[in-house]
Amino acid sequence: MNTPPLQSKLPRVGTTIFTVMSTLAAEKNAVNLGQGFPDFNCDPHLIEVVTEAMKQGLNQYPPMTGVPALRDAIATKIEALHAHQYSAASEITITAGATQGIITIILAVVHAGDEVIELEPCYDSYVPNIELAGGVPVRVPLTPGTFRPDFDKIAAALTPKTRAIIINSPHNPSGTVWTADDMLRLQEILAPTNVLLISDEVYEHMVFDGQQHHSAARFPDLAARAFIVSSFGKTYHVTGWKVGYVAAPAALSAEFRKVHQFNVFTVNTPVQYGLAAYMADPKPYLELPAFYQRKRDLFREGLKRTRFKLLPCEGSYFQCVDISNVSDLGETEFCQWLTSEIGVAAIPLSAFYGNGFDQRVVRFCFAKKDETLNAALERLQSL
Ligand code: PMP
Ligand code: GLN
Repeated sequence: MNTPPLQSKLPRVGTTIFTVMSTLAAEKNAVNLGQGFPDFNCDPHLIEVVTEAMKQGLNQYPPMTGVPALRDAIATKIEALHAHQYSAASEITITAGATQGIITIILAVVHAGDEVIELEPCYDSYVPNIELAGGVPVRVPLTPGTFRPDFDKIAAALTPKTRAIIINSPHNPSGTVWTADDMLRLQEILAPTNVLLISDEVYEHMVFDGQQHHSAARFPDLAARAFIVSSFGKTYHVTGWKVGYVAAPAALSAEFRKVHQFNVFTVNTPVQYGLAAYMADPKPYLELPAFYQRKRDLFREGLKRTRFKLLPCEGSYFQCVDISNVSDLGETEFCQWLTSEIGVAAIPLSAFYGNGFDQRVVRFCFAKKDETLNAALERLQSL
C-alpha cells in the first residue's frame, strides 16, 4: 500500500535554519555561534531546586495554567520591574517555552483571513504560526540598516482586517532595543484600533549600556491589549527546559487557556516548582545584563580585529556583522562556507525574511564560554 499523498499546510517551510546550521557545525567540528543557546551550564542551585522538587514527588500533572507558586513569582517580578499588576490566578499562564506561547496565542485569536503584522526580520516561527491559523501574514520591514521600527509603515499596514501585531524587543536577530518613545508611538497608533499586541520579550534581561527594557506591561494602553511572552530558557541559561509564560489581561488569558489546555495541557511540574523557588532571589536576572554585556564587549573587541563591519548590539545575545569586506558570497552560501572552511557557524539574516532578502549581514550568538568566543575569534581573524 502506498502512503497517501499530503497537501502540505506549510509548503514553503523546510527544516529551520537553526537546526540546519547546528547540524552542519557538528558535522564540520565548527565553533557553533549559529543557533542561539548558551554552551555553559546554568546555576547549580537551579538544578538542585528542580531535583529537590522531583525527590519530593512533585512529578504528576500540575494545574493546567501552571504551578501557582511560579505564577505568583512571575506576577511579583513583573510588578516590581514594570509597575503593572497581573493576577497570578487569571492573567499568567505557564507555557512550554515561548514558542508554544506564541503559537497558542495565534491559534486562540487569529481567525481565517485575519491579518497579522510582523516586523521583518523576525523570528522564524511567527509566519508559519499565522499561516497554520489561516491568517494572513503582513510583513512590514524594520528600517534597513538600523532595524528600527518605521511607524509610518506600521500605521499604513493597519486595515480593518488586522487582528494583531507581533513585536520583539530586545530583537532577534538585530540586537536592537525599542525605546520608551517607540513604545509610546506604538501605543498611539494602536489606540483607535482593536488590534491585539503580541510582545515577544524573551530577551528582556539582556539590555546593555544602562538602557532599560520597556515591556509592553509598562504602558497601560498597550498592556490592555497585549499578550506578553517570555522564556526562562533565555534568562536562566536553560533553553532545553522549554518553560516560559504568557501574561495577558483576564479576558485574553481566558481565550488563550482554552487553546493551551488542548495544545499542551500542562508543563513540566518539577521544573516549575524549581523555577518558583529559584525566582525568590532576583540577583540572577538583575545581574544578567552585566554578564552578557561583558561577553558582548569581549566578542566585539575581537571582531574589530577582523574585516567584518560591526553592527550595533544594544540587547539580546546576538551580534550582527556586515560581510561585504570579507566575501562576495550571498549570506547563506557565506555561512555554509564559514562553517565548513573556517570552522565557525553563523546564521544568515535572510533566514528571518519571507523573501530571502540578502543584505550581506550574518548573525553570531555570543552566549558562549569566553574560550569558545576566543576560539571563534582566532579563526575569524584569519579571514
Ligand atoms: N522568540 C524569539 C525572538 C526567540 O529568539 C526565541 C528563541 N529561540 C523564542 C521566541 C523561543 O523561545 P523558547 O526557546 O522559550 O521557545
Ligand atoms: N532562538 C534561537 C535562535 O534564534 C534558537 C531557536 C531555535 O532553535 N528554534 O537562534
